[in-house]
Amino acid sequence: MVARRAGESTTPSGTLDPVENLLIACDFDGTITRRDTLHIIVEEFGTRGLWAAIEPRLRAGEVTLEQAMQEEFATVRATPDEVRDVVLREAGLRDGFPEMVAWSEAAGHRLIVFSSGFRSVIEAALAHWGLGHLQVVSHEAEFSPEGARLVWSDRGEICVECGRCCKRHDLARHSRGERLVYVGDGISDRCAARTADLVFARADLARDLTEAGLPFVPFEDFVEVREHLESTASLAA
Ligand SMILES: [Mg+2]
Ligand SMILES: [Zn+2]
Repeated sequence: MVARRAGESTTPSGTLDPVENLLIACDFDGTITRRDTLHIIVEEFGTRGLWAAIEPRLRAGEVTLEQAMQEEFATVRATPDEVRDVVLREAGLRDGFPEMVAWSEAAGHRLIVFSSGFRSVIEAALAHWGLGHLQVVSHEAEFSPEGARLVWSDRGEICVECGRCCKRHDLARHSRGERLVYVGDGISDRCAARTADLVFARADLARDLTEAGLPFVPFEDFVEVREHLESTASLAA
């Protein structure tokens, strides 16, 4: 067993067999980035406060999350370049992520970005940080001064666990049977994280897993994630 650190979940958190290759599934907004890029984009170019008006209808089941997001992003009037510029200026890269990517590649693991955000935004940011080679699984948005149009990726059938088209399908589709490590921060990660062998969580995802009594390793930067994975491997080496 790995020694527990203060603040870790009290339920047993996964340890991994060191010789196995891992699929490290990493959320983008609020995980790789410090700030959520969707919030940044809406704040800068969209109608402020609109989400507060949409949310009651979402809660009441009158609109789906996808419809609610499309409604919100229809008010985002900006060119792709304007969107990219504000994201590069505001999003911020969480500490240790490039080193984490390099470590994963050297160790023979696959690190894939699974996001409920938009490909063009994610790829522009990753390229800016020298990580343009990373595989990204996400939705897409077409930005224009007339309003953004969201393009939803095919996530297959409605998920039997959460009743939505969620990341669980994307994960299953990209798995090659490796042990699964999930790193995330938000509600869109909660279903997929439940399929992982080891979960690193912060913010809303950490709160959700704590409430559900499920194990996870808390993290605030990728130095912690990498060190945990390394120590897990070295213990059994
Ligand atoms: Mg997130
Ligand atoms: Zn689901």
